[in-house]
Parts: sequence; structure tokens; C-alpha cells
Amino acid sequence: ASLLTFQDVSKVYRNGVHGLNHVTFSVWPGEFVAVIGPSGAGKSTLLRSINRLHNVTGGHILIVGEDISRARGRHLRMLRRQIGMIFQNYNLVYRLSVLQNVLHGRLGYMSSVQGMLGRYCEEDKRKAIGILREIDMGDFLNTRAADLSGGQKQRVGIARAFMQEPQILLCDEPIASLDPSSAKIIMDMIFAMASRRRIACVVNLHQIDVAAAYASRIIGLRKGKIVFDGTPGELTDGV
Ligand code: ADP
Ligand code: ADP
Repeated sequence: ASLLTFQDVSKVYRNGVHGLNHVTFSVWPGEFVAVIGPSGAGKSTLLRSINRLHNVTGGHILIVGEDISRARGRHLRMLRRQIGMIFQNYNLVYRLSVLQNVLHGRLGYMSSVQGMLGRYCEEDKRKAIGILREIDMGDFLNTRAADLSGGQKQRVGIARAFMQEPQILLCDEPIASLDPSSAKIIMDMIFAMASRRRIACVVNLHQIDVAAAYASRIIGLRKGKIVFDGTPGELTDGV
């Protein structure tokens, strides 16, 4: 079964701009999908629609077969737990340590008294440390997030997303703030960790060469519409 399905999805902003215009596609387990297109094409509108950072104005978005556009309360939280997110600007809590950032992202701790007091259960701590070692951040557990380089900050962002054990990983321009060598390391890590777990990955990228190097499938957007959906090979053949 597909992990993510867009059925005729549109998003019209209040100013009348069509962020998404009748978009339909499905993503399957193990797929690594790059969404590309010029600035303003609708890439971030698409990603933000998936976990309902905003509501769409038409169509349906199914997460593991369930309509997230209709979900509320506990059901919505349950569906969102299936979706990990990695951001261009990392979205870390800079006064907290690396380990705390990874634990903090874990649903439930975010607003709980335990989380605020920094009391995390041993099992979660072991899991977080395991993931941080997997991405070579084992030596920085107690470093303040503020004191990390950009590439290291993004590794913490990756660890936090995988801590959630998502079935779908959304990455919004994950390397746009990084130099080329850090960018390669980060893309390699996202790819390796997603493949190992056979989750579906949807990555917004504006670099077409990076998209072609990693993605099994490329979705091209322009003015809110899908103008290409195929393999990197088919993309270069068509150009
Ligand atoms: P991309 O991520 O590909 O650069 P966006 O999804 O950010 O594109 O934007 C798609 C279109 O929607 C653009 O024309 C943009 O100006 C518009 N847009 C994005 N967010 C808003 C908003 N909150 N209100 C109005 N228009 C928006
Ligand atoms: P939503 O429909 O998702 O709630 P809104 O249309 O309320 O989003 O937009 C939220 C705010 O963000 C608006 O005040 C809008 O003007 C502003 N905004 C953000 N990005 C853009 C953009 N690219 N173009 C126009 N307005 C934007």
C-alpha cells in the first residue's frame, strides 16, 4: 500500500495565489522522491500540506491510507507521528544539548513536565544515543546545539526526525544552508538512514544535480502543478 497519496490536491492562499493546483501522486515504501522546481513553484506548500502545517483547499491527502485532511485531535496526532520532518534551518532548541534536542522532539516530551525538567526514560535515552552514534554525533551528546557547525546541527535534526520512527520523512531544502561538502555528507546520511529503514522520503531540493544523484523518482513542480514525474534518467532524456 502507498504511504502517502495526494488526490487532486489544491491550495489557494487567501491572496488568491494557487500554491498547489490539482496535484495527484502516490509515494511507496522505500521510495526516495525529490521535489524540484523554481522558487515559488509550490514545493514548500506541498510539504507543509502533508502534515497539515496548513489546510489545503481541495482534494485529499492520505497518510498510510488515512485522510489527514479530515483528522482531528488524537487521530491527527497519531497520523503526524508517522511523519518526520527535517528543516532548512534545523529548528533546534539552541540552549539545549544535542541529546536533549533529540529527546525533546520525541512526541510527548515537547510539552510534558518531564521534558521540561529534563527527565527522560532510560530506554529513550539509549535509543537517542544509538541514533546519534549512527550519524557520527556520539562524541557531542552534551554539546549545546548553539556550539555546533551547520552540518552538525543538521545531523541533530536528522537524529530527531528518526527518533520518532516515522514511516514518511519530509525534508524541506535540507542542504540549502550548507557548504557543498557538508551538503554531501547530509544527503548521504539521510539516504542511508531512510534506505535502511525502508521508509518513504520526500525531499524538496532546488539543485537538480543533487536530486538526480539520490532520488529514485523526481517530481517537477511549476506554478503549483506537476510538470514531470519520473526517474532521473527520464528527466535528462526529456530535456
Ligand atoms: P517554493 O517552495 O517552490 O519556493 P512556495 O510553496 O513557497 O514555493 O510558494 C508557492 C506560491 O505560493 C508562491 O507564489 C508563493 O508566493 C505563494 N505563497 C506561499 N506561501 C504563501 C502564503 N502564506 N500566503 C500567500 N501566498 C503564499
Ligand atoms: P494559511 O492559509 O496557510 O493559513 P495564510 O494565507 O493565512 O496561510 O498566510 C499566512 C500569512 O503568511 C499571511 O499573512 C501571508 O501574507 C503571509 N505569507 C507568507 N508567505 C507569503 C508569500 N510567499 N506570499 C504572500 N504572503 C505570504
